Amino acid sequence: TDAIRPLIAGNWKMNGLKASTAEFDAMLNGAAGVAGRADLLVCPPVTLIAAFADRARGKAVVVGAQDCHPKASGAHTGDIAAEMLVDAGASAIIVGHSERRADHGEGDALVKQKAEAARRAGATAIVCIGETQTQRDAGQTLDILRGQLDGSLPDGSTAANLVVAYEPVWAIGTGLTPTAKDVEQIHGFIREFLTASFEADGARMRILYGGSVKPSNAAELMAVKNVNGALVGGASLKAADFLAIARGC
Ligand code: PEP
Repeated sequence: TDAIRPLIAGNWKMNGLKASTAEFDAMLNGAAGVAGRADLLVCPPVTLIAAFADRARGKAVVVGAQDCHPKASGAHTGDIAAEMLVDAGASAIIVGHSERRADHGEGDALVKQKAEAARRAGATAIVCIGETQTQRDAGQTLDILRGQLDGSLPDGSTAANLVVAYEPVWAIGTGLTPTAKDVEQIHGFIREFLTASFEADGARMRILYGGSVKPSNAAELMAVKNVNGALVGGASLKAADFLAIARGC
């Protein structure tokens, strides 16, 4: 399975103004140097997707989005359809991020609809799963992950249109990371689930690790079996850090 090409995905969250274009350009300029190791994806706020996608044309970075609405159009004030994101230049859409699950009460059924919307629009869905500290302390990690996988992955997904991101909620933005041994166990569990559900495609689907990935820990985490890249929050805002993480693949 380790012939799977890694994906380093940056999630800018609610950060970035037009002035951030300079930082994105620095990523574009450095991308050729890491393109031999990994695919690079940057998911800026929706306001910057079109401008970034235009600048990224012909470069070794693709642009994505952080969320979408399940429907293709309609009376949903303030929401953005997957089709609109693809029209703006997004080729991947993060769905089910723990901040959306927590801030907006999103559950597995809605996350699945959003992942289906991404596929309908022609984008890769990056479905996030992960346990909280409380769930972890209660020994419920694998049960929680099984429930999220069962509930949020579209039937008939392929390695081209689905990526799974394991992001322990307690590791996001905290500087804490699981041990390599824990990551190996959990990614192995996710791999088993994916191959049972999607057969040959499940064996080739990328499983990203996310949660406090930074240049100093990226190489160790990326070397773990069944870790096929990273979903990076804070450290994706700086070109130097983001590119250094990709060099760790
Ligand atoms: C994230 O929220 O997807 C994430 C991984 O954040 P950070 O890298 O800042 O922990």
